Amino acid sequence: MFIVPEKEIAALIGRQDSFTAVEKVFASMAAKSAYNFPVIREAIGHADALYGFKSGFDREALNLGLKSGGYWPGNAEKGLTNHQSTIFLFDADTGKCRAIVGGNLLTALRTAAAAAVSVAHLARADSKVLGIVGAGHQATFQLRAVAEQRKFERIVAWNRSPEKLANLEKVAQELGLPFESVSLEELGAQADVVVTIVSSNAAILKDVHVKAGTHIACMGTDTKGKQEVEAALVARATVFTDEIAQSVSIGECQHAIADGSQKEMDIVELGSVINGVHAGRTSDAEVTLFDGTGVGLQDLAVASAAVDLAIAKGIALDIDF
Ligand code: NAD
Repeated sequence: MFIVPEKEIAALIGRQDSFTAVEKVFASMAAKSAYNFPVIREAIGHADALYGFKSGFDREALNLGLKSGGYWPGNAEKGLTNHQSTIFLFDADTGKCRAIVGGNLLTALRTAAAAAVSVAHLARADSKVLGIVGAGHQATFQLRAVAEQRKFERIVAWNRSPEKLANLEKVAQELGLPFESVSLEELGAQADVVVTIVSSNAAILKDVHVKAGTHIACMGTDTKGKQEVEAALVARATVFTDEIAQSVSIGECQHAIADGSQKEMDIVELGSVINGVHAGRTSDAEVTLFDGTGVGLQDLAVASAAVDLAIAKGIALDIDF
């Protein structure tokens, strides 16, 4: 069995390998050769923690396993990341544990890769302005991954506490792109691609904010009750997702489904576009929306890629288990 510690991940796997792994597994999900098992997430009644696991099996890549982890709000005081996760991979032929992989950085990489894959397949080719809503831990990963997908000329961003946008501004400078902190109205009027990555229980981006032709990647809503965009915006858009079951229950679509303005049968798996089964965007005026809920198969895909790279580089710890 191999162990790939968290501290080794950054040097092993980057945005390109994560993009490839996530794009491939979305395609396998839509082709019904990979599927996720039901998500478990529980308040454990200790340390205020939320704990759970996401799991699945990809018959194409033979990735079987789970990501175990959650949120420990007191960790920051202990010098640790609040979100903690570990990925376990099992041999699909024998059930033996194949690898244990640090999952913290991989979670950010695979989440940003999902947004990037959606932009690659759904945004207008002539997109020039990228808008980011949010400035938390995930936001800089999103900015870096999505910025690579089109020839963006400018970044505009909004956050509830605008001073926290300094992190995004720094990344924009590294990328050589002008950066502006703007209102939601300005962001929606200017951006051709919008990523929302906040933890909110009420809509932030409204239907009226968003201009025709925009692609929106909603990445922050991964739990019942969370919401980033108005249900009317979901209803106006052509909606794509990683997994329909999660989209309607814990994803951004939960609200439009609940008020009846969105039908489950109209939600398209992004993998169908990757596989060429669905045309994706069909006009420059269409608003496309990707509801990125985050599936266990994404974690297994990037973890498996990291293990292969770690073995090839002689970094993986080989334990007789
Ligand atoms: P974080 O705690 O570091 O940052 C939270 C962000 O949300 C900040 O920008 C903050 O200003 C904003 N925010 C919080 N409450 C708000 C409110 N009421 N109104 C407006 N803005 C508010 O979180 P993070 O790690 O960057 O994660 C952001 C979101 O993405 C979380 O909801 C997280 O659960 C989710 N997430 C989703 C996936 C996925 O696969 N879809 C993966 C990882 C994280």
